[in-house]
Amino acid sequence: MAEGCTHIDAVAAVKPPKRRECEECVKTGDRWVHLRTCQTCGATLCCDSSPNRHASKHARASHHPVIASAEVGERWLYCFPDDAFAEY
Ligand SMILES: [Zn+2]
Ligand SMILES: [Zn+2]
Ligand SMILES: [Zn+2]
Repeated sequence: MAEGCTHIDAVAAVKPPKRRECEECVKTGDRWVHLRTCQTCGATLCCDSSPNRHASKHARASHHPVIASAEVGERWLYCFPDDAFAEY
């Protein structure tokens, strides 16, 4: 487990993506690279390699700390405030 991060430990069951698309990019017709799912509210948004970086914007704006990768075959969590990473 990631040292010093209590947010990842608090995720009891990892929320899967409801749909494999960025909720914000689909509204504007933008493209994304990878998808991440917020573990606080379940929103699926695009990664920092995507032009709009909706997942990190969401984390900063809403103070939802932890995302999970929404990519098939990837099983990891990331905490923004602690810059902590954990596989599950
Ligand atoms: Zn944390
Ligand atoms: Zn997006
Ligand atoms: Zn959220």
